[in-house]
Amino acid sequence: MKSVMDRVVYARKLSYPGISDEEARTVHVLIHDCTMDALGGGPAVLPLKGQIEGPHLNGKNIPWVLLLSDASFGKIEQLVGDSGITSRVVDDVIAHELTHGITADLLTEESIKKSNDQKNSQAHHAEILSDVSVAFWEGWAEGVEASLGATVRGAFHPFSLSGLGMYVFVFERQQAVRDNLYVYDNALFDDASGVRTHRTGAELMKAEGFMATVTYRVMNELPYRLADGTVTQGWPFNAVSDAIHRAQPTNTMELVKALAADPNGGADFLDDFLQISSGATASDISHGIANLIIVMSDHQNELQESLRRDPNNRATARELNETRMTLAAARPRLQAELEYVKQQVRSGALDLFAKAK
Ligand SMILES: [Zn+2]
Repeated sequence: MKSVMDRVVYARKLSYPGISDEEARTVHVLIHDCTMDALGGGPAVLPLKGQIEGPHLNGKNIPWVLLLSDASFGKIEQLVGDSGITSRVVDDVIAHELTHGITADLLTEESIKKSNDQKNSQAHHAEILSDVSVAFWEGWAEGVEASLGATVRGAFHPFSLSGLGMYVFVFERQQAVRDNLYVYDNALFDDASGVRTHRTGAELMKAEGFMATVTYRVMNELPYRLADGTVTQGWPFNAVSDAIHRAQPTNTMELVKALAADPNGGADFLDDFLQISSGATASDISHGIANLIIVMSDHQNELQESLRRDPNNRATARELNETRMTLAAARPRLQAELEYVKQQVRSGALDLFAKAK
């Protein structure tokens, strides 16, 4: 948790020149029982900057408050109970909320207002589409959470989920973020039809789960050149803060542009963004092939399952064979199209968000 607080301090020193060390490390926590009212559902950050004339402490405006609301939906006792501590879900949740706070610190009042004006969704959830503003705020926080989850629990760590209540969803979404499953709709709710589609460019920019994957990869996978010339795997968190503070993004597209503009990691980021989105924000062709691939892959799985139950069904065997051949031809076609899209976007001949507006 110390390293998370260091991030808050770094963001504040960037954003409020002359702030004292003590002010930079002070986080105001409002512990509130809202089981009897409609205020909220568990932990949250309330950004005061850009919304109302916030409360003052020692004459200073408080930019945001960490809310620990005991709500009927999210019980605080589940978060900080034995199960919450053992599984370290409390770390994930606090890091997620502090990332919202850091965002509120890095953006000016004007940028926050501009971002709020682009909100039009009522709800948010990793697997649904919200809007380009919510997906920016929540995507980054969920990317942080998926990073921390992998660090504190590793690939496999047995613990009991009983007693965690609704906070179990925090674990459920993290692996899907790391595996880029939110590039498809229907990522977690594997319904009876088993049919998924590849989200369009415009949908991806409203998908906080996908934006979580984008930021997760920035912080864990992608190369970043430090001032002394060494290259790290994964950008330092503070480098992302620098990019946000510099560019003042108010939505997902502006965040992607801000990261792509970074001189020490932006070029690799842009390539990776196009790769994991299948170029869907820029090209209908690569999106179309990517969509064919996921639909045919799911169909292939169904056919395999059906053939296991009925091994002598020749029609199924023939269709499975045809599906395999279609997939074998589509995969290299997608990669070739993606290389073309990357090159066109890099040279400026193709707008990165031509198909996302
Ligand atoms: Zn959040």
